Amino acid sequence: MAKGIKPPKPKKCRVCSEKFSPRNSLQTVCSPKCAIHLTNQLSDRKQKRQEKAERAAWNKRKADVKPLSHWMNMTQRAFNDYIRARDGEICISCGRTMAIAYHAGHYRTTAAASQLRFNEDNVHSQCSACNTHHSGNIGPYRINLIEKIGLHRVVALESNNNPHRYTREELDAIRARYRALLRELIKQREAV
Ligand SMILES: [Zn+2]
Ligand SMILES: [Zn+2]
Repeated sequence: MAKGIKPPKPKKCRVCSEKFSPRNSLQTVCSPKCAIHLTNQLSDRKQKRQEKAERAAWNKRKADVKPLSHWMNMTQRAFNDYIRARDGEICISCGRTMAIAYHAGHYRTTAAASQLRFNEDNVHSQCSACNTHHSGNIGPYRINLIEKIGLHRVVALESNNNPHRYTREELDAIRARYRALLRELIKQREAV
């Protein structure tokens, strides 16, 4: 044996775990049979990884082609669910507590003041009649809102006229925040 070249040490086969004497340092399996097995294993794994990556890319593409309005609606729904849970069944305008349905009613509408569409001062439980048939029944809404949050905060809403354009990332964050707040609220009430 030439000086400096050591005989390779026995190794454990990557597939069957048998000890074997490798012919060179690159050999990791004991036999052609185990070599085939290893190749199949690796390509299986590679294929699974690839499929997973393709699925993720597809889901992302699907989410990305949804218009911003879709995420706006989803986010408004999550926010409104929280508001209705926060306030319970009482109408901010007419005070009814036995209405058939309650909505989250915006004091300043999303059309007039989109910058307030996710503002907790601007949105309160409202019976469906006031919300849909009486254009928000806004006169009594204002009176009861002042009672509820104070004139100062109502005036702050009324004088906020800085339009805001929401980004997808912002909407994602708002949606996550209000889903978490709603879960927290439900948990707190169940604990009582
Ligand atoms: Zn083997
Ligand atoms: Zn009402």
